[in-house]
Amino acid sequence: MTILLGDLCQTLDRMHEQGKCARFWLRDDDAVFPSKPLDRLIGVTADHGVPLVVAVIPAITGAPLAQRLCATPDVSIAVHGWAHLNHAPATQKKQELGAHRPVPVVLAELSEGLSTLHGLYGAQCLPMLVPPWNRIDPEVVQGLAGIGYRGLSVFGPEKPGPLVMLNTHVDLIDWRGTRGGRTDAALVADLQQALAAGIPDIGLLTHHLVHDAQAWDFLARLLAVTANHPACQWRKASDILHDRAALL
Ligand SMILES: [Zn+2]
Repeated sequence: MTILLGDLCQTLDRMHEQGKCARFWLRDDDAVFPSKPLDRLIGVTADHGVPLVVAVIPAITGAPLAQRLCATPDVSIAVHGWAHLNHAPATQKKQELGAHRPVPVVLAELSEGLSTLHGLYGAQCLPMLVPPWNRIDPEVVQGLAGIGYRGLSVFGPEKPGPLVMLNTHVDLIDWRGTRGGRTDAALVADLQQALAAGIPDIGLLTHHLVHDAQAWDFLARLLAVTANHPACQWRKASDILHDRAALL
């Protein structure tokens, strides 16, 4: 264990002394096909008994991934947009679910995405949307409940809205730099900040297809430190959605 993860451990020890509990959940994006990196992710989470949400891209996935994931009951499925296509002009940040197309067109795709994944995964598929690039137009959000969605997951602090929000807050990947795993220092700082802010369920965001050695190594060490810590709980997304729906 590195010194930095030791710092996180000390924070958790203090929380334990104060009778507090840190709660986490794990979301992994961009699954389409079975792959060795996906097997590795399933392996490392299963080793520590950590539930996993895999955000699957409906338009381009199919039975092979479903056969792989249906064998793993601790893995839940979320709907990762429709085709993960960018409809924003080059001058804007990438968006599939932005205001660049009529809202009914976007909602029709998202409805088909949910029914596609329900067809492939049944009850293993949560009625939760994970917008590609974590961006979605507010008017599209207003229409999600009407087409069967109950939850929405983006990146950053949760904001009040018409659906249950279950966001991610710590991104394992350094998208603007190495496009590999962020440093221990950066990740532990984010985790400490999220704990200090009192975020009720801290979401860790991973992308199995781009993990380098640092990303895999940090993930394994983080799970080793946290999974059995008495002040730590890795929760199933379905349980969090259920609890939050009761509060809406
Ligand atoms: Zn994505």
